[in-house]
Amino acid sequence: MTLQELNTSLHNCQRCKLAKMGRSQVVFGTGNPNASIMFVGEAPGFNEDQQGEPFVGAAGKLLDKLLESAGLSRSQVYIANVIKCRPPNNRDPEQDEVDTCKPFLLQQIEMINPKLVCTLGNWATQTILEKKVPITKVKGSAIRLERFVVFPLLHPAAALHQGNLLDTLKDDFKKLKAYLDRMDAPATQTMPAAAPTSSAATQLQMDLFGS
Ligand code: URA
Repeated sequence: MTLQELNTSLHNCQRCKLAKMGRSQVVFGTGNPNASIMFVGEAPGFNEDQQGEPFVGAAGKLLDKLLESAGLSRSQVYIANVIKCRPPNNRDPEQDEVDTCKPFLLQQIEMINPKLVCTLGNWATQTILEKKVPITKVKGSAIRLERFVVFPLLHPAAALHQGNLLDTLKDDFKKLKAYLDRMDAPATQTMPAAAPTSSAATQLQMDLFGS
């Protein structure tokens, strides 16, 4: 199956209760299907539900600026959400909704085959790491999984609601840029493939993978 075929197969998805709770459409994901960097958010909001694309509202405008600060553009990356339908009144996703939709996110990741998955906020981070780890503990660090590296970041909407988080988010995008620059560095500079950028991340890698 191709990414487009997966998208088509979900067009009128009725697998969970969100199908009957006022969503306008399934918001599958958008961007470069061959991207080496993917961003994963939580769930579509009002604007995304209307337009059928992730991160097109206020949080999306901020994400665009942050991407630019890391030398990235939307057309280079792929952007998706953990759940593909808008929860009523933008409430948090419920576990059954995540359980139903997660396999499709994993299929998207498998088809796109990115080297790096940047998770935005707690939901995406915990879903991808399969661990109830607080975003504050792992944000701005690179965590190697079997098939790709995860780089957790605060959710842009959190920085819009709590202005004091904006500088932290900007700093973490600087760390992302530094990580990407290191990955592009010539082979003469020996760098570990996924250098953790904080000791908390090192500890977490040990906790997660027991090495
Ligand atoms: N927040 C998200 O997590 N995803 C979107 O697509 C928009 C806002």
